[in-house]
Amino acid sequence: MISSKLKSLNYTIHLGDKSLNDLSAFLLKKKYSSYFILCDENTLQNCLPTLITTCPALSSAEIIEIESGEQSKSLEFSSNIWQTLLENMADKNSLFINLGGGVVSDLGGFTASLYKRGIDFIHVPTSLLAMADASVGGKTGIDFGGIKNTIGSFAQARAVFIYPPFLNTLSERHFKNGMAEIFKIALIGDKKLWKLLETEKSSIDLIILKSVELKNKIVLKDPFDEGIRKTLNFGHTIGHAIESLFLASPNELLHGEAIFIGMLMEAHLSWQKKMITKKDLTEITQVLNLAFYSPAINDSAFEPMMELIANDKKSGQKKLLFSLLSGIGSSKYNIEITAAQIKKAFQFYNALNQ
Ligand code: NAD
Repeated sequence: MISSKLKSLNYTIHLGDKSLNDLSAFLLKKKYSSYFILCDENTLQNCLPTLITTCPALSSAEIIEIESGEQSKSLEFSSNIWQTLLENMADKNSLFINLGGGVVSDLGGFTASLYKRGIDFIHVPTSLLAMADASVGGKTGIDFGGIKNTIGSFAQARAVFIYPPFLNTLSERHFKNGMAEIFKIALIGDKKLWKLLETEKSSIDLIILKSVELKNKIVLKDPFDEGIRKTLNFGHTIGHAIESLFLASPNELLHGEAIFIGMLMEAHLSWQKKMITKKDLTEITQVLNLAFYSPAINDSAFEPMMELIANDKKSGQKKLLFSLLSGIGSSKYNIEITAAQIKKAFQFYNALNQ
């Protein structure tokens, strides 16, 4: 069993089977005036009872339930939450608790960070993606205008409590979805973690810990995404464009699933730029393809995808700037890429499925 406390910017990340006991102690110490717990129908059913049993102080909490899924990361949902906070007289000394996956932590962090110019919030991540990635680093946000994470803020939680047993009720699809960000972390900065991911029997607690440690290290060096933190965007420039395209389609594509596709295409870009060898590209492709079945993307999606990439916040000064791999376990950012190179990566990806 792993038990760890990591220091982040101005808060602690508690990880392990005892993390909810740490949360109970945190609540006793802080003496908040009231509690609000944001969850969706799945975390309400599967995680809330354990949270309240372990932290009796939360039995008086106001529960705010949203519908699960990316469509809830919207201004409309933020606005409804603000209304509930007002109606229940939330004040500057209230605590907002995000009990859920990345949708709950992004939406809840964003909403709490703006209510009365910001009230304290904490993350209790319940999906693999949120435990290994989204709950750490202070990025909050909502989707707007059909584009992912258009409106958002950097706002740090007061603390993060990662309790891996919550994963027992997570579906296999969402578990795999969370693995995407873990593969990304390994690829950009931790070859040992990459090898660990290839070992079937590796413990998920250890994998989460390694992932959080590396993300935290990067965030501590560059909290506002001005330099090295951009390497965390590997797979995301194309991945977010694909995710946005699917937001408007009836076929649902999860965040991590889009990132798997983005990583395959951006690994090819890394190879085109001669930053990784053909052998690296083959290894990455094989491992990612084993972890996740990649659907073909229709050729007609290329132009809309390029428009979304051009609109992406990560591309500066009209240049198409990417974070790419410089080996397995190392990366560089602000690498200029042309539309023709993206087209080749797109064709490479689609050929994988033939
Ligand atoms: P999610 O929050 O929709 O959760 C996935 C699904 O799993 C949901 O249906 C949820 O109800 C269910 N679920 C969660 N925990 C469960 C549990 N313990 N048992 C049963 N069901 C459970 O999505 P996600 O994949 O966790 O997060 C995706 C979001 O995270 C995206 O919006 C993405 O943009 C964001 N994200 C943010 C950051 C960041 O740094 N802020 C990083 C990566 C991703």
